[in-house]
Amino acid sequence: MAQLLESRVRAFQRDFTGKIITPDDPEYDAARSVWNGAINRRPALIARCSAPAEVVQAIRFGQDQSLEISVRGGGHNFAGSAVCDDGLMIDLSAMRQVAVDPSARRAVVGGGATWGDLDAASQQHGLAVTGGFISHTGVGGLTLGGGIGWLTGRAGLSSDNLLSAQVVTADGRVLPASPQEHPDLFWAIRGGGGNFGVVTSFEFQLHPVGPLVNLGLFFWGADRGEMALRFARDFIKTLPEDAASFIAGLSAPPAPFVPKEFHFLPGFALIVVGFGSAEEHGRLIQPVRDAGGQLFELVTPMPYTQLQRMFDEANPWGILGYEKALYLDELTDGAIRVVTEYLPRKASPLSFTPVFVLGGAYRRIPEDATAFGGSRSARFAFNIAAICPAPDLLEADRAWVRSFWQALRPYASGAGSYVNFMAEYEEDRVRASYGSAKYERLARIKAEYDPDNVFHLNANIKPALQPA
Ligand SMILES: Cc1cc2nc3c(=O)[nH]c(=O)nc-3n(C[C@H](O)[C@H](O)[C@H](O)COP(=O)(O)OP(=O)(O)OC[C@H]3O[C@@H](n4cnc5c(N)ncnc54)[C@H](O)[C@@H]3O)c2cc1C
Repeated sequence: MAQLLESRVRAFQRDFTGKIITPDDPEYDAARSVWNGAINRRPALIARCSAPAEVVQAIRFGQDQSLEISVRGGGHNFAGSAVCDDGLMIDLSAMRQVAVDPSARRAVVGGGATWGDLDAASQQHGLAVTGGFISHTGVGGLTLGGGIGWLTGRAGLSSDNLLSAQVVTADGRVLPASPQEHPDLFWAIRGGGGNFGVVTSFEFQLHPVGPLVNLGLFFWGADRGEMALRFARDFIKTLPEDAASFIAGLSAPPAPFVPKEFHFLPGFALIVVGFGSAEEHGRLIQPVRDAGGQLFELVTPMPYTQLQRMFDEANPWGILGYEKALYLDELTDGAIRVVTEYLPRKASPLSFTPVFVLGGAYRRIPEDATAFGGSRSARFAFNIAAICPAPDLLEADRAWVRSFWQALRPYASGAGSYVNFMAEYEEDRVRASYGSAKYERLARIKAEYDPDNVFHLNANIKPALQPA
């Protein structure tokens, strides 16, 4: 650290009530690490905050010292935007408190909480809100960009369930954001990402879920891919709204329910989750069994919290990752041919293509109700993810992701993508994701709350030019 900065950090340390971590601290490497092990950035200092006032102090210090500022929620995104080189990382990992009000079905959650934290607390009351598929993903980044999960069809996106938030803005104000207070800011943070300030708490509407749900997982080998995907595409349209479904191209895991001879075999999975009785679920999945051709299945009741952790092991902290995504209005036969051609070409057994099914409540919410940068008429968020235990596999699968994505582009609905599924923030694709009207509205709100673009390490919205 430059000597001048070092002396100022020492001065800052005297006033700051949170924790300062510098490159000399033994915990520096753990504190700067993010989920994606391919990211190796070294901030000049890390300010671990445990209260909004500390976030204010950190933002002020960062700006006084002209330091680039990054914000870490769960530290989970592929781009690694939570951590920067030579700048200030505002680390919210000490703000993981969750307070549930079961009678109002509401939860107030700290800005650095993970979905595991929220699910554990809300499930004690048989409640939940749409969250991500991996329990160690942060509530912060996921919600601010949208938030797709098992409950999207029943309850919409995570951000659709946000009732209010507390935001520390670039000028150090601590603002409430809700339909009544700073409604423009409230609109913007429901999809516009971390562009508008540091969210120190989120208030969510919860819904009755579980605690037991019913899982139905079916796996076909890649040689039956076209049949499996056509069947899955048509079948999920027949499902009631309160059931959830998910499609993935992946390698069969070496799990106890998978016969040994199929371990690591590439293929396609269809998962159907029922939230009612086991009998109802049995009726729901009967057509899948009737379709036949699967190599194995897993049909079982399980706690909702376990469903939320089902993919944790396949996506461990520190693995090397890269991804690209697009929306599909339909899984056409042409798109299916591309998918079945490309899936077996992946190098890492963990690389996969999660296909998030968008329906029900998600599609009923008007396009301009929130800033979410995806079409409400799209039926699938199609993700291609390289998840690699070694650098040579990452190199191979980064190329695989890019060529697969290029081949699928002709079938995409629009040029945009889900901003939370971008390993690289290309300006034109961020704009295309929001569309010009939404982007311009976001840019005007950005100009009001962050005119100097202090929070730019994200899917960045450039502040609109202010009249001279
Ligand atoms: C393995 C894996 C699985 C995933 N599964 C899903 C899924 O099922 N559904 C889904 O929708 N997405 C999913 N995602 C994408 C996920 O939504 C994004 O990676 C998201 O950015 C993670 O949020 P985070 O807080 O953990 O990330 P971080 O890396 O901490 O933050 C990412 C960015 O979000 C902003 N940010 C985070 N917290 C705050 C805050 N409190 N205040 C202000 N800004 C903040 C900052 O700009 C930061 O740079 C997945 C990602 C991975 C790696």
